[in-house]
Amino acid sequence: MKLQYLGTAAAEGIPGVFCECETCKKALALGGRHIRTRSQAVIDDALLIDLPADTYLHYLQHRFPLYAIKQCLITHSHADHLYPLELEMIKKGYSHLSDYSPLHIYSDVDGYNQLNQVVRYYNIDEVKMHLIKLNKPFAVGDYTVTALRAAHGRASSPVVYIIEKDGKSIFYSNDTSEYPEESWAYLRTIKKPLDLISLDCTEANGNADYEGHLTLSRCVKLRDELIRTGVADAHTKFILNHFSHNGKNVSYDEFVALAAQFDFEVSYDGMIVEV
Ligand SMILES: [Zn+2]
Ligand SMILES: [Zn+2]
Ligand SMILES: [Zn+2]
Repeated sequence: MKLQYLGTAAAEGIPGVFCECETCKKALALGGRHIRTRSQAVIDDALLIDLPADTYLHYLQHRFPLYAIKQCLITHSHADHLYPLELEMIKKGYSHLSDYSPLHIYSDVDGYNQLNQVVRYYNIDEVKMHLIKLNKPFAVGDYTVTALRAAHGRASSPVVYIIEKDGKSIFYSNDTSEYPEESWAYLRTIKKPLDLISLDCTEANGNADYEGHLTLSRCVKLRDELIRTGVADAHTKFILNHFSHNGKNVSYDEFVALAAQFDFEVSYDGMIVEV
């Protein structure tokens, strides 16, 4: 499988949309990998993860075949991950497609309700909504997907996803801190260590200890726990993702050097990883 990160920031983006802090000024001045847009990823150019307002920007920047994608997973309903109104543009007439088979969107309840409202209001036949069940693998096109509850408050019904195909596995895990027990209960049943685990590192090198996001030091401990429980092993590739301008030492160049001391890779917009 090929994972491409399209957007790798927390809600504000880096630079933050209305921010003139030093981190944001530096990102603007240096450009390139210092710029991070709102969270989204795509697997094999076929399975989209999240639908933020930055989707259109990602399409322009990375030229993946957005028009041909028929499967989309939603992690949760926070606005930096989900912009339901964009879907009106998939309707016949607003779009011209060679294949009008529906775009299947999978979400837990809050995102599902938000999307359904838009799909019903605009009569969008080109989208088919699916309400997911947690802790139980389900088929999404050619993939097997398992959704687990994230530790990120409950209002946005947040989940993280394990995505499998042809014996390979990717755990897309951001907008979560250390998993709740119900998710660990599922993770402990995993027999074969996962190939790639993408972790939230919103607070970068900071010492935040709230539930919902992680820091570098908490990612180190979480990785230990994942290895101890057999979810990961020495072959598993760990990548840190989803960064806030409020994180300590979060600038791409500074943070890559810090993360490397703990054998973590660091995501950037456009990064492609194969497993
Ligand atoms: Zn987020
Ligand atoms: Zn800022
Ligand atoms: Zn969130």
